[in-house]
Amino acid sequence: MGGNVLLQIRSLEKEFRVDGRTVPILNIPEWSIAKGEKVAITGPSGSGKSTLLHLISGILRPDRGEIYINETPLHKLKEAELDKLRASQIGYVLQDFHLIPSLTVEENVEIALKWRLSAKQKKDLIGGWLEKVGLQNRSTHLPSQLSRGQQQRVAIVRALVNDPPLVLADEPTGSLDWETADEISELLLNLSAAETKTLIVVTHDLNMARRFPVCLDIYDVNRIRGSKQEASMA
Ligand code: ADP
Ligand code: MG
Repeated sequence: MGGNVLLQIRSLEKEFRVDGRTVPILNIPEWSIAKGEKVAITGPSGSGKSTLLHLISGILRPDRGEIYINETPLHKLKEAELDKLRASQIGYVLQDFHLIPSLTVEENVEIALKWRLSAKQKKDLIGGWLEKVGLQNRSTHLPSQLSRGQQQRVAIVRALVNDPPLVLADEPTGSLDWETADEISELLLNLSAAETKTLIVVTHDLNMARRFPVCLDIYDVNRIRGSKQEASMA
């Protein structure tokens, strides 16, 4: 495996048990992403997109097969090691932001900061990020005082503030109108533009996917189809 590979997957299989039956969801024989790539993966609802991101981030374990991030074998790590890897290497953006409602914008970002910084350093760092996403005047607002697009901007800052080499986004525009979705797509790409940063977005929004340098259909890598029908039959 070369030093320029960020993600390497081999013979990966994931299934779920539904009412005593085994439903195969993912079967990925071989797939890799180079460091610095910006990839959108599209697929209909139920095609295993979220499951794939959960496996890449170590939230879920594969039933069989291998997943390497920066040559670290995730499938062999213990829970504590996975937690550590996630904290140091991965930023996660979700459809529904998951901001803490009782904390201000600034505080929502601050609790994600893993570095020990002085109060002044923290304020400067977070202030700089909020400026990058156009929220410099919102630092003391609560999430409920922001639009959905603004809330997603805060969630993006929270995911990127520790400068993770890998950014994962699960339907980051899924609950936004198309115009806001466009802005958020552009923001994610701009903020991840550094050559060393790898961005993987899963989405059923083809408009968003088209903006990415690399755009894959999940069925280009996944051999399992029709998991949605299977699951809804159960
Ligand atoms: P997508 O994100 O593409 O909409 P998911 O990865 O969420 O798809 O789900 C893929 C399939 O796996 C769906 O059929 C879903 O019902 C099923 N599934 C997901 N999580 C579980 C689970 N914990 N238990 C059983 N089935 C699940
Ligand atoms: Mg999903």
